[in-house]
Amino acid sequence: MSDARSDLPAVHKLLDDAEREGLTETAPRDLVVRAIREILDDARSSNGAPPQDGWLAEIRRTVESKQRPSLVPVINATGVVLHTNLGRAPLAAAARDAVVRATGYNTLEYDVDAGKRGSRQTHLRELLTEITGAEDALVVTNAAAATVVVLNALAAGGETIVSRGELVEIGGSFRIPDILEKSGSVLIEVGTTNRTKLGDYVGAISPRTKCALKVHRSNFRLSGFVTEVQTEELVETMSSRNIPVVHDVGSGLLVDLAEYGLTNEPLVQDVVQTGATAVFSGDKLLGGPQAGIIAGPKDVIQKAAVNPFTRAMRPGKMVIAALEATLRLYRDRSAALERIPTLAMLTADPVVLRDRAEALAGRIEGAVIVPGTSSVGGGSFPDAELRTTLLSIPTDHPDAFLARLRRHDPPVIARADQGCVLLDPRTIQDGEEKDVVKAIVGAQGHRGTGAEEAGEAEE
Ligand SMILES: *Cc1c(COP(=O)(O)O)cnc(C)c1O
Repeated sequence: MSDARSDLPAVHKLLDDAEREGLTETAPRDLVVRAIREILDDARSSNGAPPQDGWLAEIRRTVESKQRPSLVPVINATGVVLHTNLGRAPLAAAARDAVVRATGYNTLEYDVDAGKRGSRQTHLRELLTEITGAEDALVVTNAAAATVVVLNALAAGGETIVSRGELVEIGGSFRIPDILEKSGSVLIEVGTTNRTKLGDYVGAISPRTKCALKVHRSNFRLSGFVTEVQTEELVETMSSRNIPVVHDVGSGLLVDLAEYGLTNEPLVQDVVQTGATAVFSGDKLLGGPQAGIIAGPKDVIQKAAVNPFTRAMRPGKMVIAALEATLRLYRDRSAALERIPTLAMLTADPVVLRDRAEALAGRIEGAVIVPGTSSVGGGSFPDAELRTTLLSIPTDHPDAFLARLRRHDPPVIARADQGCVLLDPRTIQDGEEKDVVKAIVGAQGHRGTGAEEAGEAEE
């Protein structure tokens, strides 16, 4: 082992070689040194074996990979509309433009008329109250943060009543009991997993009760022998005792999509109408940037606004710009359905999807179209099955094929099923078809032996 180590070239020797090859002209010298050290470390941990393609080739590859941006656009051909790993909601064109405009100096906290300091929340408050019907509204970084803010503001040092049927985990370690604990409120569980009645809530009220929390079961369904208390009923009962009701609705649905077969997600306006405080995401069904929105009665929002967590979790200028532009589209239902990509994809006409799949299939050898389903994703409408037409490409090595699609620039993310690679036109954006075809044709052209293919799949 020590012999092998002493055989390794010195850093300055490799750096000289890299310099002679011009590598330090296209990349900062320190970056080249960092790459060399990493490669030497790797070689050391594999008993001093030199890289397969030689030192210089490996240095070049490592430097190039370090210079490539990490967060890059991808083509989502999975058919999962709100794909959390792929950045959830893609922004509307108007929102993208607004983000770009907000990158320089702007009116983030400046009142141009008065010539003095303003609040970053003013850009959103009026639109949010107008659209949701709430008295007041507040925006923080995401819905999980919004829940912490509200619960801390209303119920720290006191008790919060929650149904046992709603002590959920949303994913990514967002668990209601933990969130309550971190918010400084004591969780009072009522009812059972499948049935909670109004009397259960009432029986749990004490002088320490500060809040009643309802949580939307975003990512699963309870069915069978089930009872839950509707928000309206809960607010009626609690308001006579001055106990605020908070409803974490999750997705931020602002337009009714029942006519498209999408039911079972609460409409924010309906929740606000009951007098409850609604908490929801900006980048799920709302179709905007990552944000957490709190909309409800003035006294609740005022308490939340002055809470220190609100300052700690305040949204940045680009988020506010994107959310403002997205919310403006909601003033006109048909504009929202057409121009907010999330809503446009969810309500896409099955005939149009079929035409798009057919057009793609016509440009790819061996491709066929098959009926299939897309999903909403993002823990929204979990049991909705959206009818679509898939592009299907038979292949002996689906995993290797998928890996080659991912290596395309831009990467194409698809799925495989029973010896076929499947692409869903629903989530492929306008103008991306050319790249999809190029990626597939490239992946098909790269036919190796079975052994090579298997090796690639392991990467
Ligand atoms: C998704 C979701 C959250 C978390 O929202 P983020 O914006 O991702 O923080 C919280 N509650 C419910 C019910 C959700 O569905």
